[in-house]
Amino acid sequence: MTVSTLLNNIYRVLREHFGYLNWWPAETPFEVVIGTVLTQNVAWSNVEKSILQLKEQGLLDLTRLLTSKPEIVKRCIMPSGYYNVKYHRLMELLTFIKNELKGDILNLKKFDLLTARNKLLSIRGVGKETADSILLYALDFPIFVVDAYTKRTFYRVGILKRRDMDYDKVQEIFMKNLKRDVKLYNDYHAQIVELSKNYCKKVPICESCPIKRLCRRIID
Ligand code: SF4
Repeated sequence: MTVSTLLNNIYRVLREHFGYLNWWPAETPFEVVIGTVLTQNVAWSNVEKSILQLKEQGLLDLTRLLTSKPEIVKRCIMPSGYYNVKYHRLMELLTFIKNELKGDILNLKKFDLLTARNKLLSIRGVGKETADSILLYALDFPIFVVDAYTKRTFYRVGILKRRDMDYDKVQEIFMKNLKRDVKLYNDYHAQIVELSKNYCKKVPICESCPIKRLCRRIID
């Protein structure tokens, strides 16, 4: 079976199992941006609490976030952990949106994918996963998001040679072997997260895993 066939078959099985997951869980592109920073190194359930608190304080707004007292914003984002670091990362990103994009993240759509990505990566605290999540989930650019779950699961499946493979190389494998399709990239990443949270965990639950017949089950 080619890598392309295997990746497509895995997606088909996951989609049948979990259904279409309709990511990103946010009401606006701006909310996606906030979520991509807050979700770094924590579970999404913690991010939801932070977003809710920001909403309740009327702070899900670029200008209000940038002009609010740091301690008020930090209190709201505290459930997401590392709140001092995340506060500064958030401010760097929001300042970029204000100064370079006239206050609207959607203005990044005026650039081609590579230029838009490089602009995001030039912001302190924005790494590849965060940049690609913004590009895909806030702006509908066709780019595949890679995370630690992707590497762990697809190493076990037998598609990645090493679990610590470079971000760009993993991304290239998916993008070379899947149709260039925003909706597919959007849902495939969501399916991987769901699979990794429920079955392909630190200690995998292979017996009930929906893709066990497609997996080489390389467990270290
Ligand atoms: S069969 Fe096991 S190792 Fe393979 S994807 Fe499922 S849980 Fe992970």
